[in-house]
Parts: sequence; C-alpha cells; structure tokens
Amino acid sequence: MKRAKRSTVWDHFDRKGEEVTCKICHTVLKYSSSTSTMQYHLRTKHPQASSDEWQQTLPSMLTGRRCDARRSEEITEPLMIQKQKLTSI
Ligand SMILES: [Zn+2]
Repeated sequence: MKRAKRSTVWDHFDRKGEEVTCKICHTVLKYSSSTSTMQYHLRTKHPQASSDEWQQTLPSMLTGRRCDARRSEEITEPLMIQKQKLTSI
C-alpha cells in the first residue's frame, strides 16, 4: 500500500507558496498552515474523494461529530439521573 504519512488531502492539492490548488476542480485556496481548509473543501465539493483516514483527522466541528456527542449526552444523561435516583432510594 502506498500511503503517505502526511494527511491525504495532499493527494488532491498542489501547494504553491501561500496557495494550494485543488487537483480536482482547480480551485485555488489560501494555505493557512493547516489542512482544515482543504479538508473542508474536499468534504463539501468532492465527498467522493474523501476517505476514512482524513475524516478521522478532520476537526470535529466540521464533521458533525459534535452533534453525535451531544446526542449521546442526551441519551446517557437521563440514565445517569435514573441511576442516582435508584441509589438514593
Ligand atoms: Zn476542488
């Protein structure tokens, strides 16, 4: 398997100084010392180019993982309250 250690977004972008060019649609993005902008571009414009690997590295605010966390909180919270009630009785 040929897989670079650095983020796979670089498979879809060429860097030229302060700018990165999307190899798929040739959109030029400003490179801002992190790959999040490029990851966001890939996710929104080319979801078919996405892979599990970079989805895992994507900041949680962009993936909707925060919603999942909130949802699981809603599920676990009543359970915890129930447990507290049970133990206090
Ligand atoms: Zn693109």
